[in-house]
Amino acid sequence: MEKIPPHVLIFPIPALGHVNSMLKLAELLSVAGINVTFLNSEYNHSRLVRHTDICSRYTQRFPGFQFKTVTDGLPMDHPRTGDRFEDVLYSVKSVTPPLLKDMLLNEIKPPVNCIISDGFMSFAIDVARDLGIPIIYFRTIGACALWAYYSLREVIDAGELPIKGAEDMDRLIKNVPGMESYLRCRDLPSFCRASDPMDKNFQLFMGETRSSPRADGLILNTFEDLEGPILSQIRTICPNIYTIGPLNAHLKATVPESTSLKSSNSFWEVDRSCISWLDKQPPQSVIYVSFGSIAVLSREQLLEFWHGLVNSNKRFLWVIRPDSISGKNGEDEIPEELVGATKERGYMVGWVPQEEVLAHQAVALFLTHSGWNSTLESIVAGVPMLCWPYFADQQVNSRFVGEVWKIGVYMKDLCDRNVVEKMVNELTVERKEEFMKASSEIADLARKSVNEGGSSYCNLDRLINDIESMSSRVFSC
Ligand code: UDP
Repeated sequence: MEKIPPHVLIFPIPALGHVNSMLKLAELLSVAGINVTFLNSEYNHSRLVRHTDICSRYTQRFPGFQFKTVTDGLPMDHPRTGDRFEDVLYSVKSVTPPLLKDMLLNEIKPPVNCIISDGFMSFAIDVARDLGIPIIYFRTIGACALWAYYSLREVIDAGELPIKGAEDMDRLIKNVPGMESYLRCRDLPSFCRASDPMDKNFQLFMGETRSSPRADGLILNTFEDLEGPILSQIRTICPNIYTIGPLNAHLKATVPESTSLKSSNSFWEVDRSCISWLDKQPPQSVIYVSFGSIAVLSREQLLEFWHGLVNSNKRFLWVIRPDSISGKNGEDEIPEELVGATKERGYMVGWVPQEEVLAHQAVALFLTHSGWNSTLESIVAGVPMLCWPYFADQQVNSRFVGEVWKIGVYMKDLCDRNVVEKMVNELTVERKEEFMKASSEIADLARKSVNEGGSSYCNLDRLINDIESMSSRVFSC
């Protein structure tokens, strides 16, 4: 009798960084013969369909693959950028549980053998338990940030929070095990800056993370050689961890012909003219600048970065999303010297194929907001980073880039043209060799982890085997 393939439901939080990495996992599982139903928010799915070929890319290649959509509970015209992102999280948390249960019971066919939900949705564990379906969490942040989030209860109990003003920001935090010698108040996740630990966002991020041990397993987009010591800490509370990253490198190693490596999973139209522009620049001469898919810059911050880049005299490629500047007043207020210098040695676009850009030989440095996907993509490409963390896990990530992995520097809580100029020069001139060497060593380790016999390669195998064994326990309703 022919073996029936297992059926997995993959359900990300509706944010690009989450959707993107979970789509990569979906592809790896599909290649292994697992049937996948991918549940997107209606809003995000409509943007993906408008700007990418995801439907044909997944459903035509894999007959067992289907997309389903569910509302995120917000009107279509509600802003979903970083300054309003909590609205999305609270809305999903309140409207989704009954919808998810109903879909699993009545709409998603055949019945699923396993749910892989975003590790920020404890309600999915409740639904899964209710229906008797195994559930594995996929937390899309790094192990370093996950462990910092998880340990906050102990940090509070020890009286290390709240932070007592600006002069307290460099105090070391002693109650995140493994990070005692380098994690400062300034490096804690951004919501820790609230004056009251009972603050709603603080409780949301910490509470959701504390639910991790309730899942049957935890998938992380990281690799053992990058975050081994912190992963050992997390294993004390979640023993069943699947480190399978960096997922972009893993997909490339497993399916070199994958069209996903050329097509982006993005919410905006990709402007490929940036690649032709890069082709004309000398090797390692360009600073690539991007603050991800949800960060919003004020006009003042935009100008500080712009002056700093221009004053550094370097070439730059800068992603400015259509919704990324608050208080936009029109082009006419941009100082003449910036416009002139940008025409000469800069290029600005709305959205780029980031992995391709980072892999381009013209790119020397990534000025980044330290989102986890961007951090990993830069690690894979061996490109040093200048970090300007915006929010959430990015404060922790950037500390690891600078202090632990030593593949970049960060400008934290500062947005100043002189600092930008100084740090760009530090990374691309004064200490260039040192950063290039460290970045290329970590890139090698990343590649090894996803190649045959590497830790992420073996962990993906184990995940696939575990899912297959779950399919013998078919859920029926
Ligand atoms: N990205 C892209 N083109 C751009 C800017 C970003 O494809 O012009 C992608 C990038 O490759 C990454 C994702 O958007 O995969 C951003 O995720 P990240 O976790 O870095 O940050 P977030 O957007 O969640 O803040």
